[in-house]
Amino acid sequence: PIVTRFAPSPTGFLHIGGARTALFNWLYARATGGQYLLRIEDTDRARSTDAAIDAIFDGLRWLGLDGDQPAVMQFERSPRHAEVAHKLLDAGHAYRCYLSQEELSAMREAAQAEKRPFRIQSPWRDATPDQWPADLPYVVRMKAPRDGATVIDDLVQGSITVQNVELDDFIILRSDGTPTYMLAVVVDDHDMGVTHVIRGDDHINNAFRQLVIIRAMDAIEGGWPDPEYGHIPLIHGADGAKLSKRHGALGVDAYRDDMGLLPEAVLNYLMRLGWGHGDEEIISIAQAIEWFDIKDVNKGASRFDFAKLANLNGHYLREADDARLAELVAARITDLPVDLDLLARAMPVLKVRAKDLNELAGAARFLFVSRPLALEEKAAALLSDEARAILHKIHATLLQETHWTIEPLEATVKSLAGELGLGLGKLAQPLRAALTGQTTSPGIFDVLILLGREESLARIAEQME
Ligand code: GLU
Repeated sequence: PIVTRFAPSPTGFLHIGGARTALFNWLYARATGGQYLLRIEDTDRARSTDAAIDAIFDGLRWLGLDGDQPAVMQFERSPRHAEVAHKLLDAGHAYRCYLSQEELSAMREAAQAEKRPFRIQSPWRDATPDQWPADLPYVVRMKAPRDGATVIDDLVQGSITVQNVELDDFIILRSDGTPTYMLAVVVDDHDMGVTHVIRGDDHINNAFRQLVIIRAMDAIEGGWPDPEYGHIPLIHGADGAKLSKRHGALGVDAYRDDMGLLPEAVLNYLMRLGWGHGDEEIISIAQAIEWFDIKDVNKGASRFDFAKLANLNGHYLREADDARLAELVAARITDLPVDLDLLARAMPVLKVRAKDLNELAGAARFLFVSRPLALEEKAAALLSDEARAILHKIHATLLQETHWTIEPLEATVKSLAGELGLGLGKLAQPLRAALTGQTTSPGIFDVLILLGREESLARIAEQME
């Protein structure tokens, strides 16, 4: 069975590029009936924080991308990483390197002076134990192959070849005995049974080094097959430049909290960044599971487009269950007494014109404000003496209205407009201002129904002359 994994480093929050990597791993596992695992790569002790770990779990949970098993914490596995390093050392695939910082700098400078690329050529590569200096610190380096080439048939990038002379003898254990990232990834992927490594294409160069370790371990004990790789291109800004904050390279929490987006909209948007199915813009998760194949992900960088994301969110708001939306919107109206039932009933007319939860919350506020109503400037300007006189007449007419439902209310107000020789708008505008304190709102009859007879009449009475 196929096993994928998402392996974020908790040095920052879960950003949108990471969320897409998680999604592609999740989708591929779901599409193939496989497993999707999580690993927190917290080996950089200075830069990893608990807050970032929490934010990653929180963001993944919001998107529905939590792992199929509890997350593996990489740092806890350091002893196992060191154990593998020692196997490599004992079998002669790795060696103790006693080069000092000064010696390394001198080699680097010499390469620079001769204008040739710097590669570690450690004199310790072939040293025998009797040549090891006593009491000197050493690092453990892999013996990278020096001739031939390594080919990766990447599921996304196609065939990539690197000449082995370009691989240097990279470090797998530091002089304090701690494992490096390069080693930890390989050991964890193996032990977790990962078959498909799907990650950002900034890791392609690492893949060639990681294969050196994998193949050495396979030679030693067998059971270390090459994984399949799928290196997905980075997300760029709308202008083609590398994604920055300005472009949307924000934490997932910003999409949820600040922008007020729904997770299903973010997921739909993310899956379309680099993958698609014909011209379909709107693809549900269920549909994506049916269609997704990592091989169909584009090689080229995709561009982040806020307007598209906003449109998708508008679509999913209209699809969303009203009681659920009411809960989400209520959390954004903290200064007013919210009636959840009323809010849910208002959703059908509110959500048709909103693109995000913030807009919905703004549009819903009029339902819960208390009298005397504070009028927005434009609404106040609209309430001229003439308009207030019209409100008076509306009030007198509505007072007679016993059936407080859409059709009779509409008929009554229209016939009053006819009597006064005015267009319906001349009545609707002051009525909207009086009922909502605003100049925009859902249809005026919907507003009358939502506020109810008593509250509607009271709000009109407050503004009439
Ligand atoms: N921890 C790495 C990162 O966050 C990912 C490593 C991997 O996927 O192999 O960039």
